[in-house]
Amino acid sequence: MAARDSWRSLEQEIVDCRRCPRLRRHCLEVARVRRRMYRDQEYWGLPLPGFGDHAAPIVMVGLAPAAHGANRTGRMFTGDRSGDWLYGALHRAGLANRPESTWVNDGLKLDGVFISAAARCAPPLNKPTRAEIDNCAGFLDREFDLMKQVRVVVALGKIAWDAVLRRSAAVSPSTMPKPKPKFGHCSRTALPIRKGSGPVAILGSYHPSRQNTQTGRLTRPMFDQMIQKAIHLGGIKEKAI
Ligand code: SF4
Repeated sequence: MAARDSWRSLEQEIVDCRRCPRLRRHCLEVARVRRRMYRDQEYWGLPLPGFGDHAAPIVMVGLAPAAHGANRTGRMFTGDRSGDWLYGALHRAGLANRPESTWVNDGLKLDGVFISAAARCAPPLNKPTRAEIDNCAGFLDREFDLMKQVRVVVALGKIAWDAVLRRSAAVSPSTMPKPKPKFGHCSRTALPIRKGSGPVAILGSYHPSRQNTQTGRLTRPMFDQMIQKAIHLGGIKEKAI
């Protein structure tokens, strides 16, 4: 199957997935009730595929869609403050053609980076269960299988870090250190994420959630620095979008 068809088929499977009844109920309920300020909008309410450059050297893995962000707009990290923070930083780094991400048809394009997540449905209280993350792991696996040019994976938060390590342990159990590498902001390791391939850099970053950005746990300079590190490790010299 051609790569474009493989991506289409994967995206459709994700959108059609109903494996986690609790999450599906939650997403649909949020989409039905809606937040007052979005009452005139039609929520997406379905699972979300990854977004960005399919030939990217950098993959960023988040936790899960936000109930009134991506679950509303239909695109990863779109329509909420985490997305403003993330795409603002990618724009400053030359990896996005615009600093805002407001709606699925807003013209945002990424170059050199692909955005994914450990779970594709918005969870209650932003907390998917272990079983729900396991249910969803196959989608991240298949994105990694399709992305043969990845050189850096940025895990946004510990759950994403664990999801990336799980993938690595599955494709190359013998190279996983014991104990496993610990998550932290700017933590770094190098492990395979595709069967039969060499190691790629895996970077940890605090998630750009409001909880982290409003408390100063994650600042813009910290996040920009981490993206610059990913750009360097990804072999990206200068981006012109
Ligand atoms: S979280 Fe993933 S596995 Fe669970 S229903 Fe959503 S898309 Fe399917």
